[in-house]
Amino acid sequence: MELCDYTAHELHDMLVRREISCEDICRSIFKRIKLLDKKIKAYITVIEEEALMRARDIDQEISQGAEPGPLTGIPVAIKDNICTEGLRTTCASKILHNFVPPYNATVINKLHSQKVIITGKTNMDEFAMGSSTENSGFFPTSNPWALDRVPGGSSGGSAAAVAAGEAICALGSDTGGSIRQPAAFCGVVGMKPTYGAVSRFGLVAFASSLDQIGPMTRDVTDAALMLNAICGHDRWDSTSIPTDYPDFTTFLVDDIKGLRVGVPKEYFTEGLSPEVREIIEKAIATLETLGANIVETTLPHTDYALPAYYLIAPGEASSNLARYDGVRYGYRADDADDVVDMFIKSRSRGFGDEVKRRIMLGSYALSAGYYDAYYLKALKVRTLIKRDFEAAFENCDVLISPTTPTPAFRKGEKIDDPLTMYMSDIYTLAVNLAGLPAISVPGGFRNGLPVGVQFIGKPLGEGTLLRVAYSFEQSSNYRGKRPPIVEEVL
Ligand code: GLN
Repeated sequence: MELCDYTAHELHDMLVRREISCEDICRSIFKRIKLLDKKIKAYITVIEEEALMRARDIDQEISQGAEPGPLTGIPVAIKDNICTEGLRTTCASKILHNFVPPYNATVINKLHSQKVIITGKTNMDEFAMGSSTENSGFFPTSNPWALDRVPGGSSGGSAAAVAAGEAICALGSDTGGSIRQPAAFCGVVGMKPTYGAVSRFGLVAFASSLDQIGPMTRDVTDAALMLNAICGHDRWDSTSIPTDYPDFTTFLVDDIKGLRVGVPKEYFTEGLSPEVREIIEKAIATLETLGANIVETTLPHTDYALPAYYLIAPGEASSNLARYDGVRYGYRADDADDVVDMFIKSRSRGFGDEVKRRIMLGSYALSAGYYDAYYLKALKVRTLIKRDFEAAFENCDVLISPTTPTPAFRKGEKIDDPLTMYMSDIYTLAVNLAGLPAISVPGGFRNGLPVGVQFIGKPLGEGTLLRVAYSFEQSSNYRGKRPPIVEEVL
């Protein structure tokens, strides 16, 4: 085991005892990146020099008596749709291939103030549209557990980096499942906070009413530490919730006696593969032995979540992506006859197929004559879905479900069939429509592939989610398991 294979809290303990330095941790990460990233391709941009410089500065402060905070010196990878001042932020799109933001996202400033070390920017589906990272405008990422399989998406690079020891923790973004689904496929923890708990300022907008930034980590404790660092009210994001947040590590207690865990029956129908079903059922049994009360519950409008999402998210995207016109950002066609021709050529060449599909779907759903039939209807369905959850939470404290219908699928398997690809988010989308927090934790393995268990919480119920996820994690033995490709290089 090398330093890059530990969790943030383990490394913190070693730093406090002065057994290691931040530079040691950093060197271990970049050694791993050099060994493995040619195969995994988790990163779009790696910033080794800057990271090592920062690590040495922090070591200097520690040697002068500064006490390391919980995330001091921890190498963190950032999804490439989160703005980093002076550091290229591409959204894995050709249209932003050369975009260098003049400012930091709020979450980046927050991580800097915790003395986190940013390792680089991770690959993703272009503009976060996808479930496999195959829609990246640059290259696909491989799943560290099986290189011929996808890491999930859209935060596939962040998930793969954490799984392979190429980062200790990472940030992802989740609009319909993009943190939880790749976390499940790569055997890591991924948390989507309550809408408004983490500032979206500096997150490149896909569907603004659904997008949330969240942590991707090796265990639940690290997820709590990262959440502590990034959540909080931000006046630069008008949808940010003006409230105080607790110290989330206080919820890391191994006790769920009497906790009411709801099992929504609609999440256990045909689409669910037997291997995932088996693991979720085992997880439910584990929670019961730990003293939880298992309650059967229902979310009757579940079938409408996917169609509603694929009207609302593309609708918002078609509006948000109008700003990429070749004038203000990124790629501009320089062989255009006039300004309209320049817009057309820049957008036609700059965007990939899936992004174009979403812009067309969204523009159609929003256009005069169709707005009422599609977009407005989808908003009404969204309200029904939200009410389903409210009703379910009258009788339970958290819900449990699969994160994904199957374990990681093969590269190329779904890329030519958008509807099948969209189906890989059936258990995660509704959570975004309702603005709820949810976490995916590793639940076990089938045929060498990780399977995720999802817990869904009440609004601002992150604490309870962390408690149940932590208790579940303590009772499982997957921890410390590393992908075969990592074992080979050790
Ligand atoms: N896979 C879903 C989509 O393609 C969700 C993406 C996301 O959460 N960013 O829209």
